[in-house]
Amino acid sequence: RPALPGEQTRMRVFADGELSAAERAALIQRPIIDSGEIMRRVRPIVDAVRANGDAAVLELTEKFDRVRLDRVVVRAPFDVPELAPAVRAAIDQAYANVRAFHAAQLDGPLSIETMPGVKCSRFSRAIERVGLYVPGGSAVLPSSALMLGVPAQVAGCREIVLATPPRPDGSIVPEVLYVAHKVGATAIVKAGGAQAIAAMAYGTETVPKVDKICGPGNQYVTAAKMLAQNDTAAMVAIDMPAGPSEVLVVADATSNPAYVASDLLSQAEHGPDSQVVLLTVGLDDAQVAAIEAQVHEQAERLPRVDVVRQSIPKSYCLRMATMRDAMAFSNAYAPEHLILHNDRAADCVDAVVNAGSVFVGPYSPESCGDYASGTNHTLPTYGFSRMYSGVNTATFLKHITAQELTREGLANIGPTVMALAEVEELEAHRNAVAIRLRDM
Ligand code: NAD
Repeated sequence: RPALPGEQTRMRVFADGELSAAERAALIQRPIIDSGEIMRRVRPIVDAVRANGDAAVLELTEKFDRVRLDRVVVRAPFDVPELAPAVRAAIDQAYANVRAFHAAQLDGPLSIETMPGVKCSRFSRAIERVGLYVPGGSAVLPSSALMLGVPAQVAGCREIVLATPPRPDGSIVPEVLYVAHKVGATAIVKAGGAQAIAAMAYGTETVPKVDKICGPGNQYVTAAKMLAQNDTAAMVAIDMPAGPSEVLVVADATSNPAYVASDLLSQAEHGPDSQVVLLTVGLDDAQVAAIEAQVHEQAERLPRVDVVRQSIPKSYCLRMATMRDAMAFSNAYAPEHLILHNDRAADCVDAVVNAGSVFVGPYSPESCGDYASGTNHTLPTYGFSRMYSGVNTATFLKHITAQELTREGLANIGPTVMALAEVEELEAHRNAVAIRLRDM
């Protein structure tokens, strides 16, 4: 039956001890995304931009964003509009924190001698040209511009191209423009969706072709990134596959139900597909009901309650017997955001194997990481935190290795190399060492 009005902001509740292995596995699974239909829509868009460049981008922008522009690209320096002083100060503070944390991630060159006279080293260089997608269809997202732009700036990328859909009057969101200016973006592409990704992947008359494209976006954006990555003609890398945003919260008897509910809801308001999971450890019925009541009460006061009414019923609360069980489930789920609301939360961090970013203790709401504390909010979703890291400074760097052998070094390592070349029957390899050793 359809949910009654009062039930629309209630989560489903399960007890871990009563689940079969198959039921538990189903809770860990994300909804299957059928990308076939989206790919069928996105491929012609990508092909059109590849074939017709700016003219195609302008046409598609008129079709999807309902604005006819006369040019696609704005080059720096940008005409940055006045912002309200409080907004400007907030962006400046967030920029400073995100910059400090990402600058600390820069690793210097390393060099070691593996054998006497055999020096191996490693140094990093920025990816020269990067494209940053800042979504703009349904919200104003200067924080995404910050989270992508700052690491690219810190890494030292020479060309930073930022793409974002124009507003109905053809302008760029002023806060995004200000961030673009602060992170040293060299160009802004006024386009969204698959056409923006294709323009940066292949380049057009005015859009610079980039080497890597990063950033979140809707399913058209994600599909276009996947197509471009798989096309050798584009020669472009992407940051990671993206799905709907998610949070997993661990709560115990020491947690404040109102805080727990506020964190669940700050995820649930993102979109109808947001994934919200609550693990409770050792809570009785009344304590679980207290959290549920808070979710319901706070949700009904939110301007985006309509979104929450769609996402919360798809979410669930799972009652666990022990903290060890909770951490095992969390690692199997591999959440984008993990919030540890429980007692001795800091100790639990050691047990984290899979997560995009961890929020430790009652005073660390996800919102702080989303906007301003310093960590990045572009994180792996859909269970990809098993093998992907979130965007970070290294996302915009390559590590290059080098070696320098002295005469003595070559004499030391030569027999080893020649023996292995012989095993692989690569005589030219063996000879490249032998010819030098003969002269010594
Ligand atoms: P968007 O910028 O991703 O997409 C807007 C564009 O989609 C439009 O410009 C248009 O070109 C294209 N489009 C719309 N309808 C289309 C159609 N029928 N066919 C082809 N193209 C079409 O903005 P959005 O749609 O608001 O989506 C933003 C997404 O980014 C959300 O899913 C949000 O959750 C996600 N997001 C994630 C993070 C994160 O860090 N995980 C941060 C911010 C936003």
